[in-house]
Amino acid sequence: MRRKCPKCGSKKVVEIMYGLPPMGDQWKKDLDEGKFVLGGCCVTNHDPKWYCKDCSLEFYKLGEIPPEAGWNT
Ligand SMILES: [Zn+2]
Repeated sequence: MRRKCPKCGSKKVVEIMYGLPPMGDQWKKDLDEGKFVLGGCCVTNHDPKWYCKDCSLEFYKLGEIPPEAGWNT
């Protein structure tokens, strides 16, 4: 998947994880390595799914990446 920020074009885009972290310790390692960010435990239907580490933009709801964004999902 080629993830790119729609605002600044950065590829440092990570997934925002909501709710409780998954079982096991792997997620802690992934969090340390910056593979995702924690979005909190309150989940609504309009939470952004992705986060740009360069410009702090949160964008695209889950399953709502527009085709013109060019992500290979
Ligand atoms: Zn950005």
